[in-house]
Amino acid sequence: MAYVRKTIDIAKIKEQEAICAEIFERVAGDGQRPLAMVDTYGCQQNEADSEKLRGYLAAMGYGFTQDEFQADVIVVNTCAVREHAEMRVLGNVGALTHSKKARPGQIIAVCGCMVQQEHMAEKIKKSYPVVDLVFGPHELWRFPELMKRFMDSHKRVFATARDDGAVAEGIPLRRDGKVKAWLSIMYGCNNYCTYCVVPYVRGRERSRQPEDVVAEARQLVAEGYKDITLLGQNVNSYGKDLGIGVDFADLLRMVNDIPGDFIIRFMTSHPKDATEKLFKTMAECSKCAHHIHLPVQAGSDRVLKAMNRSYNREKYLSEIETARRYMPDLVLTTDIIVGFPGETEEEFNETLSLCEQVRYDAMFTFIYSKRVGTPAAKMPDPYTRADKQKHFDRLMELSNRISGEKHAEYEGRTLRVLIDGETGKDEYNLSSRTGGGRLVHLKGDPKLVGQFVQAKITASNTWALYGEIVEE
Ligand code: SAH
Ligand code: SF4
Repeated sequence: MAYVRKTIDIAKIKEQEAICAEIFERVAGDGQRPLAMVDTYGCQQNEADSEKLRGYLAAMGYGFTQDEFQADVIVVNTCAVREHAEMRVLGNVGALTHSKKARPGQIIAVCGCMVQQEHMAEKIKKSYPVVDLVFGPHELWRFPELMKRFMDSHKRVFATARDDGAVAEGIPLRRDGKVKAWLSIMYGCNNYCTYCVVPYVRGRERSRQPEDVVAEARQLVAEGYKDITLLGQNVNSYGKDLGIGVDFADLLRMVNDIPGDFIIRFMTSHPKDATEKLFKTMAECSKCAHHIHLPVQAGSDRVLKAMNRSYNREKYLSEIETARRYMPDLVLTTDIIVGFPGETEEEFNETLSLCEQVRYDAMFTFIYSKRVGTPAAKMPDPYTRADKQKHFDRLMELSNRISGEKHAEYEGRTLRVLIDGETGKDEYNLSSRTGGGRLVHLKGDPKLVGQFVQAKITASNTWALYGEIVEE
């Protein structure tokens, strides 16, 4: 059946808010303040989803805690990208039997990508009786209704039906910080990289309307946010489903046109859709960070094809050349998978040589993890975990060396940075980020958090830069 882009009517979100008010009366009506804990795993999209969960919970009257023994409601927002994340979730959810025993009546919900997989929802149903409520990413917009259903019936609720997903506007949000904000511009993924579970659990690619994105960005700027990250699994295909002739570069320009002093970042970019227009727009938009996270995944054409990435090494390298032509100071980061089924020593060496050639500022490296239902899970793989670990270690060594060398090049330079938080340490008590997103530790007045300052870089290592604040 052809895919039809769905939106959730705003009246339905209003109904959810009315349910929040009902729950408020029930749990917080007599002036007591119940507490909720939201535990988030995985990517920035999940962080953004948790802000919606907290928005709804706040409307239901809950305050927030990080201590499961103090929480009346616990929501675990899960990730399915790698087995390691799933194991951590299951271990931690299992351990909640202790807090539930200590606090009878504690409500435990598990949501997000992991439970959108049928076998995982089943596993929780059978083996984790401590869990009361289970819902996938497509049901998040009606979390209040699901909560109420459980509160009324005390019967376990499972809402994880397969779905292409929809776009829901108007869900209340409770953001974590005051300086940096996530802003989802689209949901889902159509790319079906053969190793990846995301398209199966997050549904089809669907974009928010540009006016909704711009209105939210404007609101963030008015509230004083200084660092806005536009989020999507593949932001470069933004707008394709809208059919109104607005692409990601156009959207960047619209956000850049909002008056105010702030930085625009975005992630993730898929190399198959990164265009010269995008690089040119980034260079021309004064608020746009000169940073691109462009996951290459592998350096061998055979492996890239088996991954269904739709680009080859040559196209990727020429894209980088174009991007650097427009932005000579471009900071480049990437994701790499080591040990894709059948990846040989020679093929892995091609990943190493690509990384040497590009010289990434930072690399996020992962050992391939088999995901149920993906095509790669059925591919033959003669290599052992130990073989993969050896490759992984070599790649890490290279990545650390290059990051260290690139960071050393900053020493002696003075850069504009945004102070985004306190570190809790004496010597360097403030953390900040360069336009390119590099971490800089500084010493200074905590009142400077949220401000742009000039920083002179005095030292560096593989992971960070160190500096001192200088007068403008
Ligand atoms: N949409 C983004 C990334 C989503 S997942 C993109 O395409 O770039 C984040 C990263 O996790 C991916 O870039 C990939 O490097 C890694 N990843 C995804 N599935 C994986 C798997 N099965 N095993 C190991 N790493 C995986
Ligand atoms: Fe997964 Fe590929 Fe989609 Fe990224 S682009 S979410 S790696 S399928």
